[in-house]
Amino acid sequence: MSDAGDAPVHVLGLAAAPGRSLGVVRRVSWDIAAPPHRTIQPGDIDVEIERFERARAEAIEGIRVLRERTASTLGEVEAKIFDPQILMLEDPELVEGTRRYVRENFLAADRAFDWRITEIRMQMLDTAHLMMADRLADLMDIRVRVLSHLDGRGADTLGLPAEEAVLLFEDLTPSVAVRLDPARVLGLVIGAGSRTAHSAILARSLGMPTVVGVGSGLSRIPDGATVLMDGDTGRIVVNPGEPEIRAYHEMEERLTEWRSQFWERPPAPVSTADGRSIHLRANLDQPHDVRAAERVGAEGVGLFRTEFLVIGQRVIPSEQEQYDAYRFVLEGVPGQPVTLRTFDIGGDKFPLFLDMPPEENPYLGWRAIRVCLDLPDLFRNQLRAVLRAHADYGRMRILLPFVTSLDEVLRTREILAEVAADVGCGDEDVPLGIMVETPAVVETLDLLAPHIDFVSLGTNDLSQYTLAVDRGNARLAHLADPLHPALVRMYHRIHRAASAGGLDIGVCGDLASNPIGLSVLVGLGYRDFSLAPTSIPEIRELLGTLSATDLAELCEDLEDPERVSTLKPRLGDYLRDTVPFETSRFSR
Ligand code: PEP
Ligand code: MG
Repeated sequence: MSDAGDAPVHVLGLAAAPGRSLGVVRRVSWDIAAPPHRTIQPGDIDVEIERFERARAEAIEGIRVLRERTASTLGEVEAKIFDPQILMLEDPELVEGTRRYVRENFLAADRAFDWRITEIRMQMLDTAHLMMADRLADLMDIRVRVLSHLDGRGADTLGLPAEEAVLLFEDLTPSVAVRLDPARVLGLVIGAGSRTAHSAILARSLGMPTVVGVGSGLSRIPDGATVLMDGDTGRIVVNPGEPEIRAYHEMEERLTEWRSQFWERPPAPVSTADGRSIHLRANLDQPHDVRAAERVGAEGVGLFRTEFLVIGQRVIPSEQEQYDAYRFVLEGVPGQPVTLRTFDIGGDKFPLFLDMPPEENPYLGWRAIRVCLDLPDLFRNQLRAVLRAHADYGRMRILLPFVTSLDEVLRTREILAEVAADVGCGDEDVPLGIMVETPAVVETLDLLAPHIDFVSLGTNDLSQYTLAVDRGNARLAHLADPLHPALVRMYHRIHRAASAGGLDIGVCGDLASNPIGLSVLVGLGYRDFSLAPTSIPEIRELLGTLSATDLAELCEDLEDPERVSTLKPRLGDYLRDTVPFETSRFSR
């Protein structure tokens, strides 16, 4: 609540993960003040080095505890995110370098360690590689840990508050996002990013209301202020007044009651008001997400992003490790299909075991299927794990990301056949599909169709590549409109081409969790959607109120300039007139 004199301040960002929160905001920064310059007597060298060693050991222990906790709450794959930090703290470059500054320059341990960290940080920044964002976050984490042990505070976290709070970050990398405890994080407010950035996707799967792209608005949210934040609209009220707080509590009560009526369900197709069957499947960012998918009654997994097996890792995950992760997911949705997407690395997601050169335009660079085809051992390893899981459970489908040419599909088929012969199963019984997320594929679906079994529409990247809008650039986020007329027309053509080519077609991009976006897709004939598990209950409820026939009429004649330009407002009016509840609650 606002103190007398603190007028409410309104800040606008981009809605990134649903839900609203009221709470105290805590600014989380990776920084800790640089220790003052302090020299020691030559006779104190051993004592000082011992002090450093003790702080280092305590920091490693703290990370191990966190790692174990993560393994038991989220799983082994997620827990591995901490391994690079332990390795960094054991790296002779860091350890010996610090000892040398103590021995040769008579620096106090904290000053020596901080100097060494600064040097390593400079070397990383010099490479100007996007991959360094995650590594820098790790380096800054260990800096905070060791320095806080050296100054006696003994923090074992990254400076995260122990109490419940809305956390405010300048930026948030996926490896930091996965460490947040959803039980204590009321919400996230992030200066950078857009709603399709991977940290935002992760926040959605962790169920944390999130507003991104706040930019300079961050400076208007003081640490310790009370905020009311809405991850569905991107609105943040700093120092909310009494009427706003009352309205918030009333709305939350209504929603809790509403949700309790339809939250948990067994998997089954959903019907529109006029009886069309629609399939709702789950998007998983990590194996653990399958629990939520099962709880909300998803009909299997429509997109299993596998990057989290490799992102930030120093060694390629073994075939067995991958098999275990895939099996975990298959067992989490008994009897249902699991569409596994092969490593979509590059762009903003980097494993540390690959020497990925810095690129001017990483989203147009060495990414996804291009990397896998260039590194056949990495690709084979993953395909072997998938085929073994398929041989054991028979419900896998393989989805290739970022395809732009037939050649990529044919080369994948060759590798798949080799791996299948090796594993001792037939490659032809695993359905192979591609993401439709580049304009090149939209234009050549007829050429590709005879060589694939299904397609999945990736509206996030297709919007980025069609509109020439970087999906990670908060400044451009208002231009990243997945319902731009160019895209709506594309969705129409894609559906037509896939049907003509006899391909199964689904949608796994985020557009399907937006009420207007979903209505357009249903109107164009799409019937199979894959969503973040947290979006499934509300979207299921919404679908039950929509008429596919009405929507098809509203989406007719989109070649007509007038019809296509007015599509969004026409559908907005339709939803307002037809749906008996507030859709802005979950529209983005
Ligand atoms: C997409 O591009 O729409 C998609 C679903 O894939 P990702 O968001 O993982 O790039
Ligand atoms: Mg994509």
